[in-house]
Amino acid sequence: MTSITLAAPLAGWAMPLSEVPDPAFAQGLVGTGMAIDPTVNDLRSPCDGIVLSVHRARHACTVRAASGAEVLLHLGVDTVGLNGEGFTAHVQDGQAVKTGDRLISFDMDLVGSRAQSLVSMMVVVNDGYTVDGQSVNREIAAGDPAMTVHGGSGADSAPAPTAASASADSGETAERTVPLRIAHGLHARPAAALVAAAKAHPGTVTILCRDRSANAKSVVALMGLGTVLGDRLTIRATGPGAQGVVESIAGLIDSGLGDPIVEGAATPAAATPAAAPAPSQPAAEEDVGPPFAPGEEALLKGTIAVPGQAVGTAVRRFRSSVRVVEQGAGPDAEEPRLRQALDRVVAGLTQSAQRMPDHAAIFQAHRELLDDPELLDAALADIRAGKSAEWAWQRTARTQADALAKLADPRMAERAADLRDLEQQVLTALSGKEPSVGLADLPAGSIVLADEILPSDLAGVPAGRLAGIGMAHGGPTSHAVILAAALGVPTVVALGRQAERVPDGAPVVLDGNRGELLVFPPEEMLATTRTAVAARAARREENRRTSREECRMADGTRIEVFANLGRVSDAPGAVVEGAEGCGLLRTEFLFLERQSAPTEDEQYQQYQQIADALEGRPLVIRTLDVGGDKPLSYLPLPKEENPVLGLRGVRVGLREPELLRAQIRAILRVKPAGICRIMVPMIASPSELQAVRAMVDEERAKLGRAEPIELGAMIEVPAAALIADRIGAVADFLSIGTNDLTQYVLAMDRGNPHVAAQLDALHPGVLRLIRLAVMGAKTHDRVVAVCGGSASDPMAAPLLIGLGVTELSATPAVIADLKAFIRTLRMKDCRRVAEAALGTDSADEVRRLVAETWPGL
Ligand code: PEP
Ligand code: MG
Repeated sequence: MTSITLAAPLAGWAMPLSEVPDPAFAQGLVGTGMAIDPTVNDLRSPCDGIVLSVHRARHACTVRAASGAEVLLHLGVDTVGLNGEGFTAHVQDGQAVKTGDRLISFDMDLVGSRAQSLVSMMVVVNDGYTVDGQSVNREIAAGDPAMTVHGGSGADSAPAPTAASASADSGETAERTVPLRIAHGLHARPAAALVAAAKAHPGTVTILCRDRSANAKSVVALMGLGTVLGDRLTIRATGPGAQGVVESIAGLIDSGLGDPIVEGAATPAAATPAAAPAPSQPAAEEDVGPPFAPGEEALLKGTIAVPGQAVGTAVRRFRSSVRVVEQGAGPDAEEPRLRQALDRVVAGLTQSAQRMPDHAAIFQAHRELLDDPELLDAALADIRAGKSAEWAWQRTARTQADALAKLADPRMAERAADLRDLEQQVLTALSGKEPSVGLADLPAGSIVLADEILPSDLAGVPAGRLAGIGMAHGGPTSHAVILAAALGVPTVVALGRQAERVPDGAPVVLDGNRGELLVFPPEEMLATTRTAVAARAARREENRRTSREECRMADGTRIEVFANLGRVSDAPGAVVEGAEGCGLLRTEFLFLERQSAPTEDEQYQQYQQIADALEGRPLVIRTLDVGGDKPLSYLPLPKEENPVLGLRGVRVGLREPELLRAQIRAILRVKPAGICRIMVPMIASPSELQAVRAMVDEERAKLGRAEPIELGAMIEVPAAALIADRIGAVADFLSIGTNDLTQYVLAMDRGNPHVAAQLDALHPGVLRLIRLAVMGAKTHDRVVAVCGGSASDPMAAPLLIGLGVTELSATPAVIADLKAFIRTLRMKDCRRVAEAALGTDSADEVRRLVAETWPGL
């Protein structure tokens, strides 16, 4: 047993809890402690510890001290209803804090005038702790000793389940689901009322909401559920009298737990079938439903990302498919389960390291993390407190990962990503399922279904095994999709969580032309799709025969078709497909699986290998474009609210000039001189390109290289398209990145599944900007290329050509077909249709126009 002294979190008049104008606090239902009527507007941490949770409405926050005591700090009375107005949180869940650190600041005038009272509470809410020595009925300064908490001696000493609760677990169980009809969800007061009822029961009581569960005897856990009006709460109890406690808690929840009922909110009867989610709740949180049964034909609709069809077998890679229940079966059962699961994961990592020696360092790093005694000790402490192995592991891994992610050292942030990966691996092992199949060792004909595939997942995929990809989330131009396109793998995104219902091994048809996934399709459908896939492959084979010849339209106009590349091994295949050069080397992809920034020499070697594989064809190397959905762990960029509107592309290069200079030097060293061109991403103003040109000239002089090098600007920021005449004055060439240009013009995040269906580069607004960019470039006779996703879209090709684009840089897999199609086109038709497209209202109308003119597409 230890005792700790909590410091006053606020300055003001300190008072006993019984004087608080809120009965739940005054009667000690929430916890034991004291209150302060504040004279300052900063709430500070009363101890060293970890922030367990900051309430959604930012009016309350819980800190766990090293002794295990959970200290709830609640600003004002009835402040949850302000919904965050007037409060600013300075910490996040999982963050380590020291005594005196600022947690939340608040606008005293606003909160004071709108809340019932500014009196703020500091209470210890978990069992096993007593409080005394409250320094009350006096003025107190922030940081003064305020009260003493006895109990616990660190996380290890959290109370083990009592004999009563352990034996209770083996008996009766009951469950009931009711809607929550109070405006602000389970905030402190209703949570305390629920806890009081749950504590009267000897067995376990758990509240489940959406994918989360909480011990109903813990105020913090209930508040941490983040419930909102309209949520459906499932009450689950075990032990003698389980049915009775479930009924009484259901009654309490139904009557509002002391808060007023919101009229019109779902009644229990109406809510029993799936209730509509509250407006603030993302649709993705819906109940997923049971797995599709064999023979249960299902059609899931998503968004086209990489066209093409595939027939194959479903391979599930969902990261969130393991359900975590908080209460465990006791330490004797849970501890060995956790240890065995860890052993299984370690064994899997050893095997992976042997199978993929190139990546052995990554697997070794994962193994070391799992060996970390602190991680295991923290999880075991939770298990000894009665938690399940899953819950204990998940919480420990997340707390550590969040803490690591906040450290300034980028290597530590990298470790956070590793830990999140390991969190899932161990949970999968605990669920008794086979560890998820790495994409590196898929069986042939696999159609991988996942929440979202990461670019790094695709980095080690062997050719020919991955037949298709279906993602529940994701957008059509995300960088993982770009890699999938490079591999020629049909991909559908934004399928929604119904995709989680597809069982492993189910026969599926993935239709990347229609954006659909068919589960357990009828035999005839499997057969017709197989025939269509074979016919398409035969046509492509046919087109490949002439694909290495230069590309001219039917009227003789020369259009260059280049390839977008992301890694050295893409280059030889691109040449075979008919690429006349590389119009975009996404250099960031070369270094995805690394632990640190690449050196100049390493970069040079990679670029030289690609140049060699292109056998004298031009190579456009884009300088590092990170940020947005391409975070690189070795780059120390600050955390941003809107990274896509922040430090991206050239902005990073100018902020980290040494990084950019090293890359420029590496490019300048590639032989023969003149084969490479440099392209700069995310240019918004000519001055940015001029700054890069100055660096290029300086580095060229230092290297003693006489030959100049072409320097181009990517047009992906709308402002750049609008002033392309000004940018054309300082750039040697322009290349339009339609992925970002579309994202920024339509104000639709390219990674957001909710807008994925509307994110279409053929929107007339995007086409008008492309025309402006071409016209601007023409005033200086500059070539305009397109290297974004629409260069790979056969429907876009005639429009882009009609608008004056003379170079398309496409994903290698489509080049043979694209060149064959361009050879059938005439400029006058392309111009006519492009002109008409500019006068339409929508991308759909544009697509209809193209389809009417070129029906074979
Ligand atoms: C683009 O934005 O269209 C582009 C080519 O760049 P990236 O997709 O790599 O952002
Ligand atoms: Mg871009």
